[in-house]
Amino acid sequence: MSERPDITTTRPKNTGVRQVRPRTEGWQQQKDDTGRPLLQFASPKRGKPPVHLADLTPEERVAKVKELGLPGFRAKQLAKHYFTHHTSDPADMTDLPAESREELVAGMLPPLLTEVRRLQTDGGDTIKFLWRLHDGALVESVLMRYPGRITLCVSSQAGCGMNCPFCATGQAGLTRNMSAAEIVDQIVRANQVIASGELGGKKSDDHSAERVSNIVFMGMGEPLANYSRVMQAVRVMVDKKDGLGMSARGITVSTVGLVPAIRKLAAEEIPVTFALSLHAPDDELRDELIPVNSRWKVDEALDAARAYFDATGRRVSIEYALIRDMNDHPWRADLLADKLNARGRGWVHVNPIPLNPTPGSVWDASERSAQLEFVRRLNDAGIPTTIRDTRGKEIDGACGQLVATEDDEAEAAATS
Ligand code: SF4
Repeated sequence: MSERPDITTTRPKNTGVRQVRPRTEGWQQQKDDTGRPLLQFASPKRGKPPVHLADLTPEERVAKVKELGLPGFRAKQLAKHYFTHHTSDPADMTDLPAESREELVAGMLPPLLTEVRRLQTDGGDTIKFLWRLHDGALVESVLMRYPGRITLCVSSQAGCGMNCPFCATGQAGLTRNMSAAEIVDQIVRANQVIASGELGGKKSDDHSAERVSNIVFMGMGEPLANYSRVMQAVRVMVDKKDGLGMSARGITVSTVGLVPAIRKLAAEEIPVTFALSLHAPDDELRDELIPVNSRWKVDEALDAARAYFDATGRRVSIEYALIRDMNDHPWRADLLADKLNARGRGWVHVNPIPLNPTPGSVWDASERSAQLEFVRRLNDAGIPTTIRDTRGKEIDGACGQLVATEDDEAEAAATS
C-alpha cells in the first residue's frame, strides 16, 4: 500500500452546514459504566440449539452417524437429502433403512426453525419470513428475486449487541448467537419455498432447479461477532460435495467494523464478498452513529478492508446509508473519497443506501439532490459508486431494520 497523506477527520469550520446528530427515537440506548453505548460481544448463556448435520464437518457427520449405530456412508445420503432436496422429512428418504430412518433423521436433522409468519410483497418477488428458534427467540430472513439471481438476507444472531442508535434490531441487545445450522437452515427453508413455486416472478412452471444464488448477512445481528459459527455456515454454503455448493462470490459478509475479525476473515481463503457498513468517514460522527467505532476507528476499519482486498483480490463494498443533514454533506463525500483513494485505486466501491423518507425524524432520507451530489463527488474522484436497491422496505424487511416487534412476539406466543 502507498504511504497515505495526512487526512483531516474533522468537519470544516464555519461552513454553515446543518449538522443533525444521531440519537435514538422512542427508546433508550443501554449504556456501560463509562456512559458510552453498551457493546455486547459475548452471547448470553441460553440453552443451545440441538446439534444438526450442518453444524458438523463431513468427518464429524460420519462419526455421529456411526455413534447412532449406522455405517458412515449414511451421512452423505442425509446431506444430499438436506442440501440438494431441501428435505428433513424421513418419509422422503426411501434410500435409508426403514427401521432406523426416524431415529437417524431425529439425531442428524432436528427441526431448528418454526415458521411464524410470512409477508410477501413486490408482486410476490420478496418474502419476509419470521422464524422461531427452539428457545423462543425470533429471527427473520428476506428472500428476494432479482433478474438473474435470487438473494436471501439471513440473520446470524438473535438480536444484536452493537447498539446502533438507528437500528431496531439493536434496541433489545443481543439475545444469543445463532448456530451454524440455524443460519444454514434459513437457506434450505428458502430453497424449499422456491422449489414449490411460492416465490413470485418465476419464468416457467418448473422451479425445481431454482435455488438461492446469493446470500447477504444483513439480517439480524453482526455476523463477525458470531465468527466461528458464521464461518462454519459459510463453509457449508460453499461446499460443493457435502454442502449447498454455492459460489463464495455470491456470499456477502457485512460488518460495522470488527477489525480483528475482518483480518481473520481475510486469512480464511474463502473469497466471499466483504462489505463494511461505514456510514460516516469521520470519527466524530461515526463514534455516535456506530458505537463500535469507539473500539476501532474509521482508519483502522478501512485499513482492514484494504487488507481484505489484498488477501482475496475481491473488491470491497462500502455501505453508506444517506441520512438527511447527518452524513450526506458534500465534504463528507470528499473526505470518504480521499480516505479510499489514499489506500489505492480499484479496490473498493461505494453503495449509498437511500432510506425511506421519515419526515420529522433525525433519521430522514437525504434529499434526492444531496444523494446525487454525494454520488457524483465520489464518482468524479474515481470511486465507483452506485445507489443500492433497497428491496423489501415496504414490509419493514430492509437491512438494519429487521426486528421482531411486540406483535411478532404475541403471534409467536399464540402459535407455540
Ligand atoms: S445496524 Fe447491524 S450492527 Fe448495528 S445494531 Fe443493527 S444489526 Fe447490529
